[in-house]
Amino acid sequence: MTSTQSKTARLKQGRILRAKTLAGIDATDPSVTPPPGAVLADHKELAHNNTYGRLPRFYLDKVVVCRQCGTEEVWPAERQKWWYEVAKGHINTTAVLCRACREKEKQKKDAARRVHLEGLKKKSSDRET
Ligand SMILES: [Zn+2]
Repeated sequence: MTSTQSKTARLKQGRILRAKTLAGIDATDPSVTPPPGAVLADHKELAHNNTYGRLPRFYLDKVVVCRQCGTEEVWPAERQKWWYEVAKGHINTTAVLCRACREKEKQKKDAARRVHLEGLKKKSSDRET
């Protein structure tokens, strides 16, 4: 491991530890002051959530344990805002895979789609001949 890599690993570990200390904060509680590092939520952008539950007032870095490899990873507050407000993910959904597994899944899906499309192409050219 190079020194750059171990430094990155240390920073990553620090971010995970910090995120863990934030885990007890209820972001939907109106009396809670957003801690440093919190990203404020825009409720206009959360209107697609058809829920009677309280919506978060802000996002905090959150530790996610990958469902596939068990790696702990921080799901950054700004990525959560993107997921819920731009990608319109439902407020009850959270990240379940780490970045590496997500990338692997994506590649698997892309490959499957490619095979599928090539199969279709082959079928139609079989018909033409
Ligand atoms: Zn993983």
